[in-house]
Parts: sequence; structure tokens; C-alpha cells
Amino acid sequence: MHDLVIANATLIDGLGTPARRGSLAVSGGRIAAVGTDVGPARERVDGDGLALAPGIVDIHTHYDAQLTWDPYATPSTALGVTTVVIGNCGFTIAPCRPADRDLTLRNLTHVEGMSLEALRAGVRWDFESYPEFLTAMERRGVVPNVASFVGHSSVRTYVLGADATKRTATPGEIAEMRRIVLEALHAGAIGFATSTLEQHNGEHGVPMPSRLADRDELMALTGALGEADRGVFMLTKGMTSTVAWLEEVAAKTGRPVMIAAMFVDPGDPTRVFNELADIEGARRRGRELWAQVGCFPLGMEFTLRHPYPLEAFLAWRPAIEAGSEAAYRRVLADPSFRTRLKAEAAMPGVPNRFSDKTWPHLTVMEVVREDHRPLVGRTIAELAAERGQDPVDVFLDFGLDGELDAMFDCRLFNTDEDEVRRLLRHPHAAVALSDAGAHLSFLCDAGFGLHLFGHWVRERGDLTLEEAVRRVTHDVASAYRLVDRGRLAPGAWADLLLFDPRTVGRGPKRRVHDLPTGASRLDTPALGVHGVWVNGVRTVDERGVREECGRPGQVLRDFAR
Ligand SMILES: [Zn+2]
Repeated sequence: MHDLVIANATLIDGLGTPARRGSLAVSGGRIAAVGTDVGPARERVDGDGLALAPGIVDIHTHYDAQLTWDPYATPSTALGVTTVVIGNCGFTIAPCRPADRDLTLRNLTHVEGMSLEALRAGVRWDFESYPEFLTAMERRGVVPNVASFVGHSSVRTYVLGADATKRTATPGEIAEMRRIVLEALHAGAIGFATSTLEQHNGEHGVPMPSRLADRDELMALTGALGEADRGVFMLTKGMTSTVAWLEEVAAKTGRPVMIAAMFVDPGDPTRVFNELADIEGARRRGRELWAQVGCFPLGMEFTLRHPYPLEAFLAWRPAIEAGSEAAYRRVLADPSFRTRLKAEAAMPGVPNRFSDKTWPHLTVMEVVREDHRPLVGRTIAELAAERGQDPVDVFLDFGLDGELDAMFDCRLFNTDEDEVRRLLRHPHAAVALSDAGAHLSFLCDAGFGLHLFGHWVRERGDLTLEEAVRRVTHDVASAYRLVDRGRLAPGAWADLLLFDPRTVGRGPKRRVHDLPTGASRLDTPALGVHGVWVNGVRTVDERGVREECGRPGQVLRDFAR
């Protein structure tokens, strides 16, 4: 007698096999049988008319802080995700000395898009070392499975303290960092993650610690992966990191290298395809490089008071450093500031950044002043053309005219879907980049898997459902060496998603206030999801997340070679 049978569903096994009608049985948290006659069970779910697939594996999340107060990794559980990987870009909360806790949160507040008050109120600091962090997470329990990177910025802060954001490391400090990375890998980290991306700044525009690392430090710390012969090197790439250098890391360590974030950039539309060609070359030479791609236009909502996408400009620095609103307004009004900004926006070849090609994709969403209402829905490019002015002037003048809190919607990358399709279908692409748990006030792409099935399969027909499922289950699970996950096969863990292919997708964005201290975040509801199971336990039913599901997730610590 099985624990559960999901009967008469369309089975999509995650391996790309053509869909077939059948049933699936679960016993002891694992898949016991798949076929037409799987035998009796204590519980039976009718899957008629629905598709049954492995649960979605989200390899790019930032739930490190949130999981200490929210075991559900909201909203990912509701959106069909059964495994999340945290610590991406090297932004983690462990290891962390008690004296550095506030510094760590101040660094996170910016990239996480979460208020410092919410983080201070929410994070439970029941650990100091990295092994203690994993054990504490296990003790608290999790709803989805969680695998965790050891993060460069945390390791650097642990060893260099406040100097982590100011200087390169000494050979002694590098050796100590390497020891900590090795300790984390042996304790069960899924790999080592870092960021060299210019937009990755902490409070007041201070660069995230990893951005201060020199080549010696990066080679030593990635070398720990080779020494341990386990783990993935995950990097969010800025201007200074080339694919050739990443191939060198893969060659030296013999480990997979996951390169984020590969977008089609309207400011330089051929770059991502050139980099993909470099990755193909590396693959031919036997190096396992992966391009991490996303299936959404990278969009953000922001205000001029908190203009995250603009902070990537070097010319924006005086605005970041302005100590008061009055000083900030003076900077925005300064003609020489604007001249430098215009020149930098027109500069080609700067990866993944706001540029002068962004103005047609920057839309006024909400205004403060009643008399500005007619501007809602207009783009800055349109207004600039109408007025015969430079978009920079139109944009900043509008903000200074009582609209520092006006909300803009900004589509930065992946705006041309015919180009994005080439990324999604690329054999060395890992489909992810949800950034779930981060940028909470700007975006919510945690529903990337449902969007892939709804938009790219059903609406656009660019992928078959079998291919799309494989992309966000088996492909990423095997890239990350997850054991017995990402497929419907006897013996695999019963991480399952039951959905209606005719309606699956993500619903419209909405703002909710469920963070500590009532802080807000953007959310998108799931469409067409009928059930989610983690290790055989149902975490979502037709009504949404089941509060009484317990903590069925595992903290994943053992990975295949
Ligand atoms: Zn990230």
C-alpha cells in the first residue's frame, strides 16, 4: 500500500521524454512507481486533465535572511518550487561574527531591496560559523528543500571586518578565507558564490565586499572547490570577469562554473551571443561552463528616491553620496552631473546596465501630484520626444518637480522576446534568474517556471512543455549535482508539481505587506497550480500554500561529484 497515488495525469518526467498518460505512486517520501497500474494507496489524487512534473528547482534565490523567519520561502512554494538554492552572488549571512551582524544586514538591505528595519527585526542569529548556519536551518526546518552557497562577501567580512569593502586582502587573509570556504564545502555548501557586478552595492553605494577581491584571492577561493573536488562556482559577472578567465577557473578546478546573469542587453545586443559562443568553445575543450538565463524581461519598479538601476552609473555616485534630500536635489539639478550621466549612458559595451536605450522602456506608473496624472502610462522617451528635450533632463526634472516618490516601471533587459528565445533554447543555458527573495520592492520573478510553461510554451510555442519542464528541473538539478531530484522516476524524491497546462502562469503583480515590521514586497499569484509536494508531503493544494504541511524540506548537504 503506497502513501499516495496521483492518478491519470499527463506525466512529464523532466528528462524531455514525450508526455504520456499515467499514474505515480509515492512511498516514504520517494517515487515508488510510475506507470498505468501502480497499485493502491492510502491517499489518491485525481490528476485527470492535469500535468504532473517534477517540482521546479530554483537555482538563483536570495532567501538566506528570509528563511530564518519564513520557512516557506514565500512566495516560491506557492509558485511550484520544491528546491531553492540560496547564497547566490555571494550575498549570505554566514559566516558572521556577532559584531558584524548589523554591517552584514546593511550590506544586504540594498541588494535585497528590503528595509533594514525588516531585516533587523526578522533575522534570527542562531549561528556564527557556516556549519552552524546549516545546522540552525535544519533545526528550524524548511518547507522547500534548500541548498546553500558559501558566499564570498560574508567570508570576506568575516576575515577582514570593516576593511572588506575597502581593500584587497593580504596573503594571510586569503589563506584564512580559503580555509573557511573549504570548511563550508565539507559541511555541505553546494559551492562558492561571488559577484563582480558593478551594480552590487551595499548601503550608501559602498561596493559589496567581493568586488574588492583581486585575481589572487579569486583563484585561491575557487581553488578550494578543486581541492575539495566538489561544488559549483557561481558568479554574477561584471565588466572585469571574462569568459576566458572563467574557463581558466573551470580548467584549474575541474568544477562546473555557473555564469549569471546572461541577458539580452538592448545597449549591446550581440554581447550575450558572443559570450555564449565563448561558452560553447569552452565546452568543446571539456570545461563545464553554464550560462544562467532568465525568461522574464528584467523589469524593476523604482522611485527616484531609491533608484537602484541608476546606481550602476559611475556618474551617479555624487547622488548616492548626497547626505540629505536637499543635497540630493542639488546634485540632480546640477548641469555638469547631467552631462556626465548622458555621456556615460551613451557609452556602449558596459554589461547589464541602464543605458540610453532604456528610455523607451521606462514608464511612469504612479505619480504624487494630481496634475501629473495624465503622465501615467507614458514613457520617458515619448515625453522627451514631445518636448524636444534630452530624456535625462525630462526624467530628473520630473523627479525634482515633486515626484521623487513617483513609481517608474523599467524594462532593462530581455525586452526582445525573439532574442530571448535563442537564450532559452541554448543547450548550455540554465533557466533561472528569479532572484527570489531579493529586490523585493522592485520586482517578483519567483514564478519563472510557471511563466515558462504558460508564456513560452502555451502562448508563444517556443518550447515544448516537455523541454520547458526539463529546463527548470532535471537540467539545473544535474548541473548542480542534486541527488535523486528533478525527474519522475522510481527512487527519486517525490518533489512534484501538478498543474493545468491550459491555465498555468503567473498572475498580475501586486504589493503585499507581510515582511517583518509590515514592510512591503511585490508578489505574483500562481495560476493553474493544483498541487505541490516536497519529499512526498503536500505543501500546496488548489487553495494555495498549506499552513499545516509541517517542514518537509531537507537542507541538502550531499551532492554528486
Ligand atoms: Zn542574485
